[in-house]
Order: sequence, then structure tokens, then C-alpha cells
Amino acid sequence: MRILKGFSVGLMMLLATVAMAQAQGAKTAGGKGDLRIYFIDVEGGQSTLFVAPTGESMLVDTGSPDARNPMSPRDASRIAAVCKLAGVTKIDNLVITHYHSDHVGGLPQLVALVPVGRFIDHGPNREGADYQGGASTVAGYNAYQKVLAGSTADHLTAKPGDVLPIKAFHVEVVSADGEVIAKPLALGGQPNPACATSPHKDIEGSENDRSVGMVITFGKTRILDLGDFTWGKEPGLVCPVNKLGKVDLYIASHHGLDRSGSPALVDAIAPRIAVIDNSGRKGAAATTIDTIRGSSRLEGLWQLHTAEGNDAAHNTDESHIANLPGSDAGNYLEVSVRPSGGMAVTNPRTSETVEYPAK
Ligand SMILES: [Zn+2]
Repeated sequence: MRILKGFSVGLMMLLATVAMAQAQGAKTAGGKGDLRIYFIDVEGGQSTLFVAPTGESMLVDTGSPDARNPMSPRDASRIAAVCKLAGVTKIDNLVITHYHSDHVGGLPQLVALVPVGRFIDHGPNREGADYQGGASTVAGYNAYQKVLAGSTADHLTAKPGDVLPIKAFHVEVVSADGEVIAKPLALGGQPNPACATSPHKDIEGSENDRSVGMVITFGKTRILDLGDFTWGKEPGLVCPVNKLGKVDLYIASHHGLDRSGSPALVDAIAPRIAVIDNSGRKGAAATTIDTIRGSSRLEGLWQLHTAEGNDAAHNTDESHIANLPGSDAGNYLEVSVRPSGGMAVTNPRTSETVEYPAK
């Protein structure tokens, strides 16, 4: 009886251990040598964490401020939680693409939770308080300057053509402060036939136009993150010559709003996977979904939220959505980039991973 009892307790412990391992395994499909990318749900802002196999990290943007919950601010807490599960105790590089509140706003609350080694941005804010929404931009910029003034961390102003001082993956700056690279990247330089038919939109004259844009390369895999860089500015990167070349993963510009992500851009970069950091009510415009789906190499479209204003035909498959309507779960999406060039996307909501083998 004793033996049996001991056996059943031992068995239960074993089963519990297996279940825990399975639950933890479900969190990530990341292998040892992978670059892991976490798309953190900051409800229609941006916050994307890159973690190299060496542990070196880069966070792009910090979501929004949360004045109502200073003790547990929504976006900063979500970013800190993802840092913890990713094993990041210090953000080695924090890139602020531009000074809109949904990108820089969460910064003061985040640095109170996770230390930062180096701040990278496009230089001074150029959007005044008189511009629509400009007051929050000025406030966000000023709060950031206050953090910088009180910090011993490095501070770098990124310029087009720069390569960021990151060892474990290669980051080329392609846009900053409204300027773009003068010459194509090594894998760019092709003519772009989509320029002839891609609709024209005016430049906004906002901070969006000034976003720090980057091509991130790990092994053979190329990733494009242009922040909120706008439609009217995109021809500078891809028309008439595609200066960027093709990419494997497209972090959909500007949360998938139709003020960015022209056919000229998306056809030129021809991504295998696209991830949209939208919220339920912001971004992932139906036209953006059509443009991405219409690109020539697309294998997978992922969204942080169901776009609640769109019909089912203009949302990706539910299995590829991190947060469904009515949920405030704050689920992230994770992309693992294999050293071989393959990619895998994990949806923690479903614990499913979709593999995109190297080609
Ligand atoms: Zn934004």
C-alpha cells in the first residue's frame, strides 16, 4: 500500500512536471540559436522586442503612457513581463522610432521596471504642440528628454545609412528624421514596376514621416520595421528603384493604417510573413490587408487583434490572431528566426506554432 501510495505520488509529480514542461514549451518555439522577436500587445501602439541567441536585445518602442495606473502601467508592465519570459534583464538597445505617444509614451514607466543600455532615436522632435495631437507628442518627447538627462546610458542619433552598434544581428538604418538612404542596400537596386500604379498620397508633415526605419538581418533572414513611416514618404525608399530589396518578415508599417504600406512598398519588399501590431479599433485597414495578401511571396499574415471594424474576409484566419474581440488578455505573438533561414510564428493564445521552412 505504502509502495503504491509512493508510486502514485511520484507519478502525479512526474505528470505535473511533464504538464509544466509542455505549458512552458508552448510559450515558445524558439530554439537555442534563434533570433526571437516578440510583438507585444500595446493596444495599437508599437513595442517589438528582439532577443539574439547571445542574449543581446533591442526593443523598438514602448507603447503608451498609463497615467491612471502608475503602480502597474498597462504597456510598460506588459513589456516588462515579456522581457522576463524572454530572459531579458536589461534592454541593451531601445530604439524610439518617433515621438508619438503610442511609441515613446510608455518609456518613463518602462525604464522604472527594466534598465536600458543605449537609447537610439532620430534626433529632436519636430512636431509642435499646434499640430493635431502635437501636445501629447511634445509631452512624450519632453518626458523622454528628462529620462535621458537623468541616465548614464548611451544615446545615439540614428541616420540613414548607419549600422547600429549591435553585435548579434545586423541593423541598417534606412530612414530617420524624414531622410532616407541615398543608395540601395546590398540586396536592393531592382526596378519596381508597382510604382507606376501605386496611388499617390501626400506627405503628412508629422513625426510619422520622421520614423527611424530599419532593415534587420539575422543569417539570411531580413526583417523590415519602418515604425509609422508614411505612404507619401515610401517612394523615397522604393521608387523607381527598390532600395530595400526583398524581406522575409514585414512588421506592417503604422499598425496597418492605410496612411502607410502602399502597394509600391509592399510589392517591392514581397514579404513571406507580415505581422500587424493593430488594436481592435486601430489599424489593419481592409485595404492594407488586401495589399499585403496581394504581394507575390506571402505565406502568412498575423495580427495582434481582430480588426473589429473589418468583415471576416478582411481579417486573417482566427488562428493567426493573438487577441480576439472582447478579450483584454494582452497576448503577444512570437517569431523565431532560425539560423538556417526558416521562421516560426507562435500564438500563445492557442499554443500553436506555424513553421515557415527555409527556402
Ligand atoms: Zn503609431
